[in-house]
Amino acid sequence: MNEAVERLVDLRWPSQVKSAYDVVIIGGGGHGLATAYYLATRHGITNVAVIEKGYIGSGNSGRNTTIIRANYGIPEAVRFYQHSLEMYGRLEQETGRDVMHATKGLLWIAHSEAGVRQERARAEINTAFGSKTEYVDPKTIQDICPQLDMTGQGVWPIYGASYHPSGASARHDRVVWAYAEGAMRLGVHVHQRTAVTGFLRDGDRVVGVETTAGSIAAGVVVSAVGGHVTTLASMVGLRLPIRTHQLQAFVTNRYAQAFGPIVASSGLGVYASQPAKGEMLIGAEIDRAPAYAYDAGHSFLRSCAFRSIALLPFLRDLRVLRQWTGVCDMSADYSPIMGFTGVPNLLVTTGWGTWGFKAIPAGGEQMAELIATGRTPALIAPFALDRFANDRTMADRGSAGTH
Ligand SMILES: Cc1cc2nc3c(=O)[nH]c(=O)nc-3n(C[C@H](O)[C@H](O)[C@H](O)COP(=O)(O)OP(=O)(O)OC[C@H]3O[C@@H](n4cnc5c(N)ncnc54)[C@H](O)[C@@H]3O)c2cc1C
Repeated sequence: MNEAVERLVDLRWPSQVKSAYDVVIIGGGGHGLATAYYLATRHGITNVAVIEKGYIGSGNSGRNTTIIRANYGIPEAVRFYQHSLEMYGRLEQETGRDVMHATKGLLWIAHSEAGVRQERARAEINTAFGSKTEYVDPKTIQDICPQLDMTGQGVWPIYGASYHPSGASARHDRVVWAYAEGAMRLGVHVHQRTAVTGFLRDGDRVVGVETTAGSIAAGVVVSAVGGHVTTLASMVGLRLPIRTHQLQAFVTNRYAQAFGPIVASSGLGVYASQPAKGEMLIGAEIDRAPAYAYDAGHSFLRSCAFRSIALLPFLRDLRVLRQWTGVCDMSADYSPIMGFTGVPNLLVTTGWGTWGFKAIPAGGEQMAELIATGRTPALIAPFALDRFANDRTMADRGSAGTH
């Protein structure tokens, strides 16, 4: 976090780590901080510590492509993400911070008859479960986004698309800071540069954490560590249906014209949007091999640039300014995992993979309610870990990214 932010945002860093908290949250990303914020603001639980090994937002919450949408493929997910999307719409008013929330509309393009069927089905299921999406024809697509090459360079012609008018974006690190600030104002401790290295146990129960700043006792421990979750869970012998994969993205120099919507293509495996500074922000799919490394490769850049130019030929004239990588906690069914772990007093919020930025408000709110009441709220009950043991997985691969 740079000096300007330190001065602009009222972050009240604690002077020392206490020996005990009611709740210890591991991970100062969006999900950990939002959980702390809602514990404090909705439930009056403020004896809470967020333990972050780097700086807040240094994980995926500060590395993502900032897309907020609710156009998922199963009813449970549509309801959950729609709730989160609506919470994002109120976040500036709630926190008093400008998180640069902007509604842009999202086009999800079909390049084949099968793609058309998929996008028609997406529109139907979204609308049926409370999130507006409509199927649009090539003429309407061109009206929404004139920069698209409707022939797809003669190889990926555009047949149609689903259009999700409430698709939006927000500035990712501002979201992190807004939640941190709101939580810290009410007395939550956020400890940066402090890593959790183990758990304190009393029999089966987790009763605290070992950290690089010493042991901390806790009534409840929540793991919100993004792509590092399997490493952390293995410290208590917990196996999760998660694999960690790299996800890369890049941004170009400024595009002189306005580029209105967010555009995604499953066929080409890319998506594009224009942040407020005018650059073009391009994202893609995860790297195939599991990895915890943060290296960003040229082969990704070459392949992703080639595919995005097929969709948006003007990108050819822009230059790549930055490329980066995050490590994503990919769940086996491409849906999140929230709640009890089977290890007493240890909760988890994970499986956020390539899609968890949009879920930060609802994920934090619902986890806070679970911690405060001891009961799983109905909205996130379908995303409990025991769904894998009970053969009730929430398979939604086609909505999680540009599959
Ligand atoms: C390139 C890219 C593009 C993406 N685009 C989108 C998008 O457009 N829309 C969308 O919805 N989602 C997107 N995502 C996914 C989204 O960013 C994540 O799902 C979300 O940010 C996860 O938040 P989190 O709080 O769970 O994890 P993180 O933000 O990763 O936070 C976890 C924190 O835990 C800390 N930590 C780890 N281990 C320890 C430890 N032992 N002790 C203490 N602290 C620890 C880490 O340092 C980190 O700060 C994208 C991700 C990437 C990488």
